[in-house]
Amino acid sequence: MEKENKVTAVFYITDKAHSLAEDIAYMYVGAKAIKFSTELLPAMWHQYSGLVFIMSSGIVVRAIAQLIKDRKSDPAVVVVDENSEFVISLLNGHLGGANDLAREIASLLGARPVIALAAELSNLPSIDLWAAEKALVIEDWDQLPKVAARLRNDGVLRVYAENEIELPEVFLREADPANADILITSKQLLEFSEDDGRARLYLRPRQLVVGIDCNSGVNEAEIEEAVSRVFEEHNLSRLSICLIATIDKKANERGLVRFAEKCGLEIRSFRAEEINKIKGIERSESVFQATGAYAVAAPSAMMAADTDRLVIPKTKSGNITVAAAQKKDRSAGKLYIVGIGPGGNMHITQRARAAIKESDVVIGYETYLNLVPDLITVKEIITTGMTQESDRCKKAIELARSGKTVSLISGGDPGLYAMAGLVFEILSSENRGNEVQGVNAPEENLLVEVIPGISALNASAARLGAPLMHDFVSISLSDKLTPWETIEKRLDAAAMADFVIVLYNPKSEGKNDQFSRAIEIINKYKKPETPVGVVKGAMRPGEDIIITDLEKVGGLPIDMQTTVIVGNSGTFVWNGHMITPRGYEFKLDA
Ligand code: SAH
Repeated sequence: MEKENKVTAVFYITDKAHSLAEDIAYMYVGAKAIKFSTELLPAMWHQYSGLVFIMSSGIVVRAIAQLIKDRKSDPAVVVVDENSEFVISLLNGHLGGANDLAREIASLLGARPVIALAAELSNLPSIDLWAAEKALVIEDWDQLPKVAARLRNDGVLRVYAENEIELPEVFLREADPANADILITSKQLLEFSEDDGRARLYLRPRQLVVGIDCNSGVNEAEIEEAVSRVFEEHNLSRLSICLIATIDKKANERGLVRFAEKCGLEIRSFRAEEINKIKGIERSESVFQATGAYAVAAPSAMMAADTDRLVIPKTKSGNITVAAAQKKDRSAGKLYIVGIGPGGNMHITQRARAAIKESDVVIGYETYLNLVPDLITVKEIITTGMTQESDRCKKAIELARSGKTVSLISGGDPGLYAMAGLVFEILSSENRGNEVQGVNAPEENLLVEVIPGISALNASAARLGAPLMHDFVSISLSDKLTPWETIEKRLDAAAMADFVIVLYNPKSEGKNDQFSRAIEIINKYKKPETPVGVVKGAMRPGEDIIITDLEKVGGLPIDMQTTVIVGNSGTFVWNGHMITPRGYEFKLDA
């Protein structure tokens, strides 16, 4: 839908619907929220290309019945219920764009689009995106368009899967590989004839750890040849390899490193003492002489795969020994670290909405969760106090590892004074202890995605005008995790260098003097008339925007929801806006 060229009217009757109508109109250029009346409607029918009604569909059907002519000239008609649960595409779905409009509004509101057209194959999954999400490797990309076409034509695909894997609704489980369009297996060949000319897409689960031992000086080609041969002999696909395991002494062996690079695989290595603890392994004196371990390929594969069973027993050929183990089938969990923006429905991204909706568990500070109540209805919710941030992160990681999809919610952006860093710090410190592997390492099934949000500095700057048009620095005045001396040093340097300065956390619990001390430092370098913007609760109900200057800002009430922006030497105030020039003169004759 070409929104820019089309104009939408949003009709409401009640007060509740009125504010929803304003929200929707805000999302479309030129759109208007209009109080509904049947007399007005005939004039509007051709004036707007999209009409959105927030009321019962009965009222709408009666009101528009006389006006409907044909698909070419009628506008798109969409109905939204007052609780913003459903968005119905009522008229002119395809040509008029009502289906798209309904979908779009639904996603903005976190509602469900209701689109009842038989021919409409809405929301078919993208096979390659789904495969990537499930860590399945596409064997032959040429087959993909053929199978995708079948999905479009039939609306369903048949899937043969040897792994426990959650399938999209339109993927039907099929026990007989001969009848399947998609085959999920590590086996190179399955026992059926493929001579029927039917397109089949093989997806290889990344689940096999290959253990490799080699003599010094072997080259990459020899290793590749050995691995390929052994996998072929065991009817296993090399594409299912997720990791190479070996002993630490061999981890830097050139041929092995090159082979790993070529295959895009990581090498995980173990010390001889660790390897020798594995029981039931055939011991070799010569290997022990060379490495200090009684065996290398088999036990290192088993250790990395966290299993005591091999799918390929130790196989030695010439200079190279290969073995393989299958990782325990842990269902992949997901951890979304979601920024929900400064507040309210209108400033949260679509991706953030989608992630929260998809999640089994939502974890966050209550204040943030309360900002997006419509998104968080039927799931497990965990709220803990603000001070227990690391507990929240640990809980989120633990739940995601158990196979759940978890959204960890931050206000603003999750990567700015928030949860994203903490999650990665926790994961990487575990990694250092070598107990659990880090994020997205092949043997860690946990997928982590950071979903950005509009930070307080974006929201506050937008409310003030354009104060961040030139180089700026952001400094948090919270000394909970940073020594106050460091904060003072940074304030001093930033003020001296004439940066615009954004102050986060100007007031923290129980303390009062950080803000005045910060202003005192900034005052050493900046003029008293330097503009200062003070934004409290940006984009939240009761937001408060004040533009003042350095001399007067000290006397203003500052709280924990406030962001302060101090201008640079060029910042000026015009017409209630705080503006930092881009750095060059505005030339009218340019
Ligand atoms: N991750 C958040 C920042 C968390 S630190 C973000 O990206 O915005 C908390 C500080 O952010 C608060 O003390 C305040 O300085 C600022 N802040 C958060 N929300 C705000 C809002 N709606 N308006 C103004 N400042 C806000």
